[in-house]
Amino acid sequence: MDIRQTVKRQTLADIEAQAARVATMMAQIRIAMLPPTASKSAPTLSAAQLAEVCQVDKAKINYRLTRGDLPGGTMHGNRREWTMSEALEWVRAFRGSHLRPSDAAGITITVANFKGGVAKTTTAVTLAQGLAMRGHKVLLVDLDPQGSATTLFGVLPDTEVDEENTAAPLFAGSAEDLRYAVRSTYWPGIDLVCAAPLLFGSEFALPARQSRDPGFEFWRVLDRGLDPLRESHDVVIIDTPPALSYVTINALMAADGVLMPLPPSALDFASSAQFWDLFSDLSNQLVRARGHDKTYEFIDVLLSRVEATDAASSVVRQWVIEGYGDKVLPIEIPKTSVAAASSAEFGTVYDVSRGAMNARTLNRARDAYDRMCALVEQQIVAVWANQSAK
Ligand code: ADP
Ligand code: MG
Repeated sequence: MDIRQTVKRQTLADIEAQAARVATMMAQIRIAMLPPTASKSAPTLSAAQLAEVCQVDKAKINYRLTRGDLPGGTMHGNRREWTMSEALEWVRAFRGSHLRPSDAAGITITVANFKGGVAKTTTAVTLAQGLAMRGHKVLLVDLDPQGSATTLFGVLPDTEVDEENTAAPLFAGSAEDLRYAVRSTYWPGIDLVCAAPLLFGSEFALPARQSRDPGFEFWRVLDRGLDPLRESHDVVIIDTPPALSYVTINALMAADGVLMPLPPSALDFASSAQFWDLFSDLSNQLVRARGHDKTYEFIDVLLSRVEATDAASSVVRQWVIEGYGDKVLPIEIPKTSVAAASSAEFGTVYDVSRGAMNARTLNRARDAYDRMCALVEQQIVAVWANQSAK
Protein backbone atom coordinates (compact mmCIF):
# COMPACT_ATOMS: atom_id res chain seq x y z
CA MET A 1 0.00 0.00 0.00
CA ASP A 2 1.21 3.47 -0.82
CA ILE A 3 1.76 5.11 2.54
CA ARG A 4 0.93 8.55 1.06
CA GLN A 5 -2.65 7.42 0.48
CA THR A 6 -3.25 7.12 4.21
CA VAL A 7 -3.08 10.86 4.82
CA LYS A 8 -5.97 12.98 3.61
CA ARG A 9 -4.75 16.44 2.77
CA GLN A 10 -7.25 19.24 3.27
CA THR A 11 -7.24 22.59 1.49
CA LEU A 12 -8.88 25.69 2.93
CA ALA A 13 -11.71 25.13 0.46
CA ASP A 14 -12.17 21.62 1.90
CA ILE A 15 -12.37 23.13 5.36
CA GLU A 16 -14.94 25.62 4.14
CA ALA A 17 -17.05 22.82 2.69
CA GLN A 18 -16.67 20.84 5.90
CA ALA A 19 -17.84 23.83 7.94
CA ALA A 20 -20.89 24.29 5.73
CA ARG A 21 -21.76 20.57 5.95
CA VAL A 22 -21.74 20.51 9.74
CA ALA A 23 -23.62 23.82 10.00
CA THR A 24 -26.39 22.48 7.75
CA MET A 25 -26.52 19.28 9.80
CA MET A 26 -26.81 21.31 12.98
CA ALA A 27 -29.78 23.24 11.61
CA GLN A 28 -31.46 19.95 10.61
CA ILE A 29 -30.76 18.35 13.97
CA ARG A 30 -32.34 21.31 15.67
CA ILE A 31 -35.51 21.06 13.58
CA ALA A 32 -35.69 17.30 14.12
CA MET A 33 -35.30 17.68 17.87
CA LEU A 34 -37.67 20.51 18.42
CA PRO A 35 -40.69 19.78 16.24
CA PRO A 36 -42.90 21.18 14.93
CA THR A 37 -42.27 24.86 15.55
CA ALA A 38 -38.61 24.28 16.38
CA SER A 39 -39.01 25.99 19.73
CA LYS A 40 -38.65 24.45 23.16
CA SER A 41 -41.19 24.42 25.95
CA ALA A 42 -40.70 24.32 29.70
CA PRO A 43 -41.77 21.15 31.56
CA THR A 44 -45.09 20.90 33.40
CA LEU A 45 -45.27 20.14 37.13
CA SER A 46 -47.24 17.50 39.03
CA ALA A 47 -48.83 18.25 42.41
CA ALA A 48 -45.84 16.65 44.15
CA GLN A 49 -43.40 18.82 42.21
CA LEU A 50 -45.49 21.93 42.80
CA ALA A 51 -45.49 21.19 46.53
CA GLU A 52 -41.72 20.75 46.40
CA VAL A 53 -40.95 24.05 44.68
CA CYS A 54 -43.42 25.87 46.96
CA GLN A 55 -41.80 24.12 49.97
CA VAL A 56 -45.14 23.03 51.43
CA ASP A 57 -46.76 19.61 51.67
CA LYS A 58 -49.21 18.29 49.14
CA ALA A 59 -52.11 18.62 51.57
CA LYS A 60 -51.56 22.35 51.65
CA ILE A 61 -51.66 22.51 47.85
CA ASN A 62 -54.93 20.56 47.84
CA TYR A 63 -56.39 22.77 50.53
CA ARG A 64 -55.41 25.95 48.69
CA LEU A 65 -56.90 24.55 45.48
CA THR A 66 -60.34 24.63 47.12
CA ARG A 67 -59.99 28.40 47.56
CA GLY A 68 -59.69 28.74 43.80
CA ASP A 69 -57.53 31.88 43.88
CA LEU A 70 -54.50 30.21 42.25
CA PRO A 71 -54.42 28.39 38.87
CA GLY A 72 -55.96 24.91 39.05
CA GLY A 73 -53.82 23.49 36.26
CA THR A 74 -55.19 20.89 33.86
CA MET A 75 -56.43 17.37 34.63
CA HIS A 76 -54.68 14.57 32.72
CA GLY A 77 -56.70 11.49 33.61
CA ASN A 78 -56.71 11.59 37.40
CA ARG A 79 -53.63 13.72 37.85
CA ARG A 80 -53.28 17.44 37.75
CA GLU A 81 -50.51 19.20 35.83
CA TRP A 82 -49.49 22.83 36.05
CA THR A 83 -47.63 24.72 33.34
CA MET A 84 -44.48 26.47 34.51
CA SER A 85 -46.20 29.89 34.35
CA GLU A 86 -49.12 28.60 36.42
CA ALA A 87 -46.70 27.06 38.90
CA LEU A 88 -44.89 30.39 39.25
CA GLU A 89 -48.07 32.03 40.54
CA TRP A 90 -48.15 29.43 43.31
CA VAL A 91 -44.45 29.80 44.02
CA ARG A 92 -44.77 33.56 44.38
CA ALA A 93 -47.74 33.13 46.71
CA PHE A 94 -45.91 30.68 48.99
CA ARG A 95 -42.27 31.81 48.87
CA GLY A 96 -42.59 35.54 49.51
CA SER A 97 -39.95 35.52 52.24
CA HIS A 98 -37.31 34.21 49.81
CA LEU A 99 -37.98 36.77 47.11
CA ARG A 100 -36.10 40.02 46.54
CA PRO A 101 -37.21 42.82 48.88
CA SER A 102 -38.26 45.94 46.97
CA ASP A 103 -35.31 47.95 48.33
CA ALA A 104 -32.66 45.37 47.32
CA ALA A 105 -30.80 45.09 44.01
CA GLY A 106 -30.50 42.05 41.79
CA ILE A 107 -27.50 39.80 42.50
CA THR A 108 -24.96 38.96 39.79
CA ILE A 109 -23.35 35.52 39.85
CA THR A 110 -20.51 34.67 37.46
CA VAL A 111 -19.80 31.03 36.67
CA ALA A 112 -16.14 30.82 35.80
CA ASN A 113 -13.20 28.49 35.40
CA PHE A 114 -10.26 28.55 33.02
CA LYS A 115 -11.03 25.17 31.66
CA GLY A 116 -13.56 23.91 29.19
CA GLY A 117 -15.66 20.89 30.02
CA VAL A 118 -15.85 21.45 33.78
CA ALA A 119 -19.65 22.02 33.62
CA LYS A 120 -19.73 25.83 33.64
CA THR A 121 -22.56 26.04 31.13
CA THR A 122 -24.52 23.16 32.65
CA THR A 123 -24.18 24.80 36.07
CA ALA A 124 -25.18 28.26 34.80
CA VAL A 125 -28.27 26.99 32.97
CA THR A 126 -29.51 24.62 35.69
CA LEU A 127 -28.98 27.36 38.27
CA ALA A 128 -31.01 29.76 36.11
CA GLN A 129 -33.81 27.20 35.80
CA GLY A 130 -33.72 26.26 39.47
CA LEU A 131 -33.83 29.86 40.66
CA ALA A 132 -36.58 30.73 38.17
CA MET A 133 -38.66 27.79 39.47
CA ARG A 134 -38.18 29.19 42.97
CA GLY A 135 -39.83 32.43 41.87
CA HIS A 136 -36.89 34.66 40.93
CA LYS A 137 -36.71 36.65 37.73
CA VAL A 138 -33.45 35.55 36.16
CA LEU A 139 -31.30 37.02 33.39
CA LEU A 140 -28.78 34.62 31.90
CA VAL A 141 -25.93 36.38 30.09
CA ASP A 142 -24.03 34.08 27.75
CA LEU A 143 -20.51 35.44 27.23
CA ASP A 144 -18.93 32.37 25.65
CA PRO A 145 -18.60 32.93 21.87
CA GLN A 146 -19.38 29.23 21.47
CA GLY A 147 -22.88 30.03 22.66
CA SER A 148 -23.50 26.72 24.46
CA ALA A 149 -25.93 28.27 26.94
CA THR A 150 -27.67 30.01 24.04
CA THR A 151 -28.00 26.65 22.29
CA LEU A 152 -29.47 25.05 25.43
CA PHE A 153 -32.21 27.69 25.22
CA GLY A 154 -33.06 26.47 21.72
CA VAL A 155 -31.38 29.35 19.89
CA LEU A 156 -28.71 28.53 17.31
CA PRO A 157 -25.74 30.91 17.71
CA ASP A 158 -24.61 30.70 14.08
CA THR A 159 -27.89 31.42 12.35
CA GLU A 160 -30.32 32.85 14.88
CA VAL A 161 -28.19 35.36 16.78
CA ASP A 162 -27.39 38.86 15.51
CA GLU A 163 -24.89 41.22 17.03
CA GLU A 164 -27.65 43.18 18.82
CA ASN A 165 -28.74 40.00 20.64
CA THR A 166 -25.28 39.79 22.26
CA ALA A 167 -23.07 41.84 24.56
CA ALA A 168 -20.78 42.78 21.63
CA PRO A 169 -22.25 46.30 21.05
CA LEU A 170 -21.84 47.05 24.77
CA PHE A 171 -18.18 46.01 24.67
CA ALA A 172 -17.65 47.94 21.42
CA GLY A 173 -19.04 51.09 23.03
CA SER A 174 -22.07 51.54 20.76
CA ALA A 175 -24.45 50.89 23.67
CA GLU A 176 -24.33 52.18 27.24
CA ASP A 177 -26.12 49.27 28.87
CA LEU A 178 -27.25 45.76 28.03
CA ARG A 179 -31.04 46.30 27.95
CA TYR A 180 -31.10 46.22 24.13
CA ALA A 181 -30.00 42.55 24.08
CA VAL A 182 -32.43 41.04 26.58
CA ARG A 183 -34.90 38.57 25.12
CA SER A 184 -37.40 36.26 26.73
CA THR A 185 -37.01 32.48 26.52
CA TYR A 186 -39.19 29.35 26.49
CA TRP A 187 -38.70 29.13 30.26
CA PRO A 188 -41.00 31.51 32.18
CA GLY A 189 -38.94 33.74 34.44
CA ILE A 190 -35.69 33.46 32.44
CA ASP A 191 -34.49 36.15 30.02
CA LEU A 192 -31.39 35.64 27.90
CA VAL A 193 -28.57 37.67 26.40
CA CYS A 194 -27.23 35.42 23.63
CA ALA A 195 -23.69 34.68 22.53
CA ALA A 196 -22.37 33.82 19.08
CA PRO A 197 -18.91 33.54 17.49
CA LEU A 198 -18.99 37.27 16.64
CA LEU A 199 -18.45 37.90 20.36
CA PHE A 200 -14.79 37.00 19.76
CA GLY A 201 -14.54 40.53 18.36
CA SER A 202 -14.89 41.93 21.88
CA GLU A 203 -11.45 40.51 22.70
CA PHE A 204 -10.08 43.08 20.21
CA ALA A 205 -12.59 45.89 20.79
CA LEU A 206 -11.89 46.18 24.53
CA PRO A 207 -8.08 46.55 24.36
CA ALA A 208 -8.43 48.86 21.33
CA ARG A 209 -10.72 51.18 23.32
CA GLN A 210 -8.25 51.04 26.21
CA SER A 211 -5.31 52.10 24.05
CA ARG A 212 -7.29 54.93 22.43
CA ASP A 213 -8.42 56.24 25.81
CA PRO A 214 -6.16 55.56 28.83
CA GLY A 215 -8.94 56.75 31.14
CA PHE A 216 -11.27 54.01 29.87
CA GLU A 217 -11.69 51.07 32.24
CA PHE A 218 -12.15 48.04 30.02
CA TRP A 219 -12.90 45.79 32.99
CA ARG A 220 -15.94 47.77 34.15
CA VAL A 221 -17.96 47.89 30.94
CA LEU A 222 -20.22 44.97 31.81
CA ASP A 223 -20.59 46.02 35.45
CA ARG A 224 -21.95 49.40 34.31
CA GLY A 225 -23.93 47.86 31.47
CA LEU A 226 -25.81 45.60 33.88
CA ASP A 227 -26.91 48.40 36.22
CA PRO A 228 -30.46 48.87 34.88
CA LEU A 229 -30.90 45.08 34.78
CA ARG A 230 -30.17 44.83 38.50
CA GLU A 231 -33.46 46.67 38.92
CA SER A 232 -35.51 44.62 36.47
CA HIS A 233 -34.10 41.20 37.41
CA ASP A 234 -33.57 39.43 40.74
CA VAL A 235 -30.57 37.37 39.69
CA VAL A 236 -28.15 37.81 36.79
CA ILE A 237 -26.16 34.68 35.94
CA ILE A 238 -23.16 34.98 33.63
CA ASP A 239 -21.72 32.02 31.73
CA THR A 240 -18.13 32.64 30.67
CA PRO A 241 -15.69 31.27 28.10
CA PRO A 242 -12.93 28.87 29.21
CA ALA A 243 -10.26 31.57 29.39
CA LEU A 244 -9.35 34.56 31.53
CA SER A 245 -10.16 36.80 28.58
CA TYR A 246 -11.08 40.51 28.53
CA VAL A 247 -14.72 39.46 28.54
CA THR A 248 -14.26 37.03 31.44
CA ILE A 249 -12.51 39.76 33.46
CA ASN A 250 -15.57 41.94 32.86
CA ALA A 251 -17.80 39.12 34.11
CA LEU A 252 -15.69 38.69 37.27
CA MET A 253 -15.67 42.44 37.94
CA ALA A 254 -19.45 42.65 37.47
CA ALA A 255 -20.10 39.80 39.92
CA ASP A 256 -21.40 39.88 43.47
CA GLY A 257 -20.77 36.16 43.71
CA VAL A 258 -18.53 33.72 41.85
CA LEU A 259 -19.31 30.05 41.30
CA MET A 260 -16.48 27.83 40.13
CA PRO A 261 -17.42 24.32 39.01
CA LEU A 262 -14.46 22.02 39.59
CA PRO A 263 -14.33 18.32 38.75
CA PRO A 264 -12.13 16.41 41.20
CA SER A 265 -9.36 15.62 38.73
CA ALA A 266 -5.72 16.47 39.29
CA LEU A 267 -5.41 18.52 36.09
CA ASP A 268 -8.55 20.50 36.81
CA PHE A 269 -7.33 21.19 40.34
CA ALA A 270 -3.96 22.39 39.01
CA SER A 271 -5.68 24.61 36.48
CA SER A 272 -7.92 26.10 39.17
CA ALA A 273 -4.79 27.13 41.08
CA GLN A 274 -3.59 29.02 38.00
CA PHE A 275 -6.99 30.64 37.63
CA TRP A 276 -6.97 32.14 41.12
CA ASP A 277 -3.34 33.17 40.78
CA LEU A 278 -3.96 35.06 37.53
CA PHE A 279 -7.24 36.47 38.76
CA SER A 280 -5.50 37.77 41.87
CA ASP A 281 -2.66 39.33 39.81
CA LEU A 282 -5.09 40.99 37.46
CA SER A 283 -7.40 42.38 40.08
CA ASN A 284 -4.42 43.78 41.94
CA GLN A 285 -3.28 45.53 38.78
CA LEU A 286 -6.68 46.79 37.73
CA VAL A 287 -8.34 47.56 41.02
CA ARG A 288 -6.02 47.84 44.00
CA ALA A 289 -3.17 49.57 42.18
CA ARG A 290 -5.67 52.34 41.41
CA GLY A 291 -6.64 52.72 45.03
CA HIS A 292 -9.95 50.85 44.71
CA ASP A 293 -11.09 47.59 46.18
CA LYS A 294 -13.75 45.00 45.53
CA THR A 295 -15.51 42.62 47.89
CA TYR A 296 -17.37 39.54 46.73
CA GLU A 297 -20.45 38.57 48.68
CA PHE A 298 -19.57 34.91 48.17
CA ILE A 299 -17.19 32.67 46.25
CA ASP A 300 -18.31 29.07 45.88
CA VAL A 301 -16.41 26.08 44.58
CA LEU A 302 -18.74 23.37 43.31
CA LEU A 303 -17.48 19.82 42.93
CA SER A 304 -18.87 18.89 39.53
CA ARG A 305 -18.99 15.75 37.39
CA VAL A 306 -17.95 13.64 40.39
CA GLU A 307 -17.48 9.95 39.70
CA ALA A 308 -18.46 8.15 42.88
CA THR A 309 -16.37 5.05 42.27
CA ASP A 310 -13.20 6.74 41.08
CA ALA A 311 -10.41 6.38 43.67
CA ALA A 312 -8.28 9.14 42.13
CA SER A 313 -11.11 11.61 42.42
CA SER A 314 -11.51 10.98 46.14
CA VAL A 315 -7.86 11.96 46.63
CA VAL A 316 -8.33 15.15 44.63
CA ARG A 317 -11.60 15.86 46.45
CA GLN A 318 -9.49 16.04 49.64
CA TRP A 319 -7.13 18.52 47.95
CA VAL A 320 -10.09 20.64 46.90
CA ILE A 321 -11.50 20.68 50.42
CA GLU A 322 -8.11 21.45 51.92
CA GLY A 323 -7.29 24.13 49.36
CA TYR A 324 -10.63 25.89 49.15
CA GLY A 325 -11.90 25.27 52.70
CA ASP A 326 -15.36 26.60 53.41
CA LYS A 327 -15.70 27.94 49.87
CA VAL A 328 -16.52 24.38 48.80
CA LEU A 329 -20.30 23.98 48.67
CA PRO A 330 -21.50 21.03 50.80
CA ILE A 331 -22.89 19.22 47.78
CA GLU A 332 -21.35 17.27 44.93
CA ILE A 333 -22.82 17.06 41.47
CA PRO A 334 -22.41 13.43 40.41
CA LYS A 335 -21.49 12.48 36.90
CA THR A 336 -24.72 11.03 35.59
CA SER A 337 -26.06 9.59 32.39
CA VAL A 338 -29.10 11.85 32.86
CA ALA A 339 -27.03 15.02 32.51
CA ALA A 340 -25.26 13.54 29.51
CA ALA A 341 -28.47 12.31 27.87
CA SER A 342 -30.36 15.55 28.40
CA SER A 343 -27.51 17.59 26.93
CA ALA A 344 -27.60 15.32 23.86
CA GLU A 345 -31.10 16.71 23.43
CA PHE A 346 -29.95 20.27 24.05
CA GLY A 347 -31.42 20.48 27.51
CA THR A 348 -30.61 19.98 31.19
CA VAL A 349 -31.91 17.63 33.89
CA TYR A 350 -34.74 20.11 34.45
CA ASP A 351 -35.88 19.85 30.82
CA VAL A 352 -36.35 16.08 30.93
CA SER A 353 -40.02 15.20 31.26
CA ARG A 354 -41.04 12.44 33.61
CA GLY A 355 -41.72 9.24 31.77
CA ALA A 356 -38.90 9.94 29.35
CA MET A 357 -36.51 8.33 31.80
CA ASN A 358 -36.37 6.02 34.82
CA ALA A 359 -37.93 8.16 37.57
CA ARG A 360 -35.46 7.17 40.27
CA THR A 361 -32.44 7.92 38.10
CA LEU A 362 -33.94 11.26 37.12
CA ASN A 363 -34.78 12.19 40.71
CA ARG A 364 -31.30 11.30 41.89
CA ALA A 365 -29.77 13.50 39.21
CA ARG A 366 -32.14 16.38 39.94
CA ASP A 367 -31.64 16.09 43.66
CA ALA A 368 -28.04 17.31 43.51
CA TYR A 369 -28.97 20.27 41.30
CA ASP A 370 -31.95 21.09 43.55
CA ARG A 371 -29.62 21.28 46.52
CA MET A 372 -27.09 23.36 44.60
CA CYS A 373 -29.85 25.84 43.73
CA ALA A 374 -31.08 25.89 47.33
CA LEU A 375 -27.55 26.59 48.63
CA VAL A 376 -27.00 29.42 46.17
CA GLU A 377 -30.45 30.85 46.91
CA GLN A 378 -29.66 30.84 50.65
CA GLN A 379 -26.65 33.06 49.99
CA ILE A 380 -28.63 35.39 47.71
CA VAL A 381 -31.38 35.77 50.32
CA ALA A 382 -28.75 36.55 52.96
CA VAL A 383 -27.19 39.25 50.75
CA TRP A 384 -30.63 40.82 50.23
CA ALA A 385 -31.29 40.74 53.95
CA ASN A 386 -27.99 42.58 54.56
CA GLN A 387 -28.82 45.16 51.88
CA SER A 388 -32.25 45.76 53.37
CA ALA A 389 -30.83 46.09 56.86
CA LYS A 390 -28.61 48.98 55.76
P1 ADP B 1 -18.14 23.95 30.18
O1 ADP B 1 -19.18 25.01 30.00
O2 ADP B 1 -17.32 24.16 31.42
O3 ADP B 1 -17.29 23.74 28.98
P2 ADP B 1 -20.32 22.04 30.01
O4 ADP B 1 -21.35 22.48 30.98
O5 ADP B 1 -20.56 22.36 28.57
O6 ADP B 1 -18.89 22.56 30.46
O7 ADP B 1 -20.14 20.48 30.24
C1 ADP B 1 -19.20 19.75 29.49
C2 ADP B 1 -19.80 18.38 29.15
O8 ADP B 1 -20.01 17.64 30.34
C3 ADP B 1 -21.14 18.48 28.46
O9 ADP B 1 -21.23 17.51 27.48
C4 ADP B 1 -22.12 18.20 29.57
O10 ADP B 1 -23.31 17.64 29.09
C5 ADP B 1 -21.35 17.23 30.42
N1 ADP B 1 -21.77 17.27 31.82
C6 ADP B 1 -21.89 18.35 32.61
N2 ADP B 1 -22.29 18.01 33.85
C7 ADP B 1 -22.42 16.65 33.85
C8 ADP B 1 -22.81 15.69 34.82
N3 ADP B 1 -23.15 16.04 36.06
N4 ADP B 1 -22.83 14.39 34.45
C9 ADP B 1 -22.49 14.02 33.20
N5 ADP B 1 -22.12 14.88 32.24
C10 ADP B 1 -22.08 16.19 32.55
MG1 MG C 1 -19.47 26.38 28.49
